[in-house]
Amino acid sequence: MLNIGAHLSASKGFMNMAKQTEEIGGNTFQFFTRNPRGFAAKDIDIKDVERFNEYTREKGFAKILAHAPYTLNPCSAEERVRELALMIMEDDIKRMEYIPDNYYNFHPGSHVGQGEELGINFTAELLNKVVKPDQTTTILLETMAGKGSEIGRSFEQLRQIIDLVEHNEKIGVCLDTCHVYDAGYDIVNDLDGVLDRFDSIIGLSRLKAIHLNDSKNPFESHKDRHEKIGEGSLGIDAIKRIITHPKLCHLPFFLETPNELDGYAHEISLLKKLYSEVI
Ligand code: FE
Ligand code: FE
Ligand code: ZN
Repeated sequence: MLNIGAHLSASKGFMNMAKQTEEIGGNTFQFFTRNPRGFAAKDIDIKDVERFNEYTREKGFAKILAHAPYTLNPCSAEERVRELALMIMEDDIKRMEYIPDNYYNFHPGSHVGQGEELGINFTAELLNKVVKPDQTTTILLETMAGKGSEIGRSFEQLRQIIDLVEHNEKIGVCLDTCHVYDAGYDIVNDLDGVLDRFDSIIGLSRLKAIHLNDSKNPFESHKDRHEKIGEGSLGIDAIKRIITHPKLCHLPFFLETPNELDGYAHEISLLKKLYSEVI
């Protein structure tokens, strides 16, 4: 079975996201832990969370994915900005324990001219402060497009971060198909080659989730603009090969395509059909 879902608004709580997911034909979803601007987080509603945990267990949902505010920069040159990232991620990870055993994805950050070495060290330093050996959440580093001074644009950079984290058994990777194509990994013409490189540098056992997006821009453009499934430079054939690849087909796939709910429903039914033709 294809494990798939979309990025949903968390404003009406967890049960609402579970119901929306069923309406659009998914069995998982992604949500922002808090407002990316201002960083306000909703109070945890214990009743909502308890119902959600039971409901998703009964319905056989796949693991869900929380996304940190993309406005955080864990490797900023300013200490104040790094402190804010630390505070917010610490709080997010604590809150994730209300929905145990799921995933928390974040952008490794932008080194803003300090150089990638320093950026990688700051991000690893933050992880060493927030990752606790007894947490049930796995933290995912997202593969980035490499716009500006983003780190996480190469598998090597992600490996370096992981190597610097003490409890890195709690660290995995979320591969964003738009981002890696933008970063110069040719998943359209050489998916096997890219996965072999991922395996030899990071290890495929670290790969926990896929952000499934088409791209508005050509290969290696470092732009990070998502497109609807099949309407961008990746195209429907490449996307079919990704969701049905023997090394990927068991993972949860999350749509971050420019859609409302009905657009997501349409993409999910298309992807399920393509999946069933192969698996
Ligand atoms: Fe992201
Ligand atoms: Fe993404
Ligand atoms: Zn993106």
